[in-house]
Amino acid sequence: MAELTSIPWADATINPIDGCSKISPGCNHCYAEARATRFRLTPYLWTPDHAHDNISVHLERLTKLQRWSPRTIFVCSLSDPFNHAVSVDTQEAIYHAIRANPQHAYIILTKRPERLRSFIDRMQIENPSWFNSNGTLAIGEIWHGISAENQATLDQRWQILAQTPVQNRILSLEPLLGYINITPTIHPLTPLPRPNWIIIGGESGRWARPMVEWWAKSIADYAEAYDIPIMVKQLGGHPDPRSGHKAVLYGKLYDNIPDPLRNWKNTHERNQNNAASS
Ligand code: SF4
Repeated sequence: MAELTSIPWADATINPIDGCSKISPGCNHCYAEARATRFRLTPYLWTPDHAHDNISVHLERLTKLQRWSPRTIFVCSLSDPFNHAVSVDTQEAIYHAIRANPQHAYIILTKRPERLRSFIDRMQIENPSWFNSNGTLAIGEIWHGISAENQATLDQRWQILAQTPVQNRILSLEPLLGYINITPTIHPLTPLPRPNWIIIGGESGRWARPMVEWWAKSIADYAEAYDIPIMVKQLGGHPDPRSGHKAVLYGKLYDNIPDPLRNWKNTHERNQNNAASS
């Protein structure tokens, strides 16, 4: 598994879990499943029934965290740490490793925020020292996010993440498969916490389903209007996914990465200096 990554918003990936199972249309052309099939890493198709057979845990890989210099790390880039076949013990071990290595910033994405929520609820009882006085998880710079591909998955998943006591929330709309009315999620008057960052991407690969560019444009325009950092990672399609600096939407590049993540190394050093001088 790659340690360095071409993902524009992370410096590295770490994968203590291999394998996953599909849960919604956004999973149909899962890159991780294609990769696992190509290298014969998992024995079955990634159906929910085969999740226990396909998922394997490799906690020893987390020891790399101690050796790495400060960086932004995408945790479980080839799986979903909150898949129904991943045990709470495994999840707890991952968060213990994160807590032991606060020199890094972490990004954790899931399509199963209900399991993230139940894990956090359980940790509030079992590991109360992980939480601040407001009951919010505070064991380091972790950015939790949901992935959603259409209005229904956004509405269902965001409601849960927004009510989960974590510090920074990402809304990842990738692959974007339909028009989404984003206003109720990001309007300043919305009663729930708003995303701290939005990422949009079309689907890439041989069987890519189309992303209509104005779907992405309307989300990007509202995000800018409501002061939420927005990155349009790629526009989808094959053979030219028009990613990174080519992901220009109607003449404009949306490539915001929130400061703590973009400059994590500097932020970490500044925090350390402040702690030493106080
Ligand atoms: S949740 Fe993510 S890793 Fe799991 S099957 Fe779906 S796209 Fe693949």
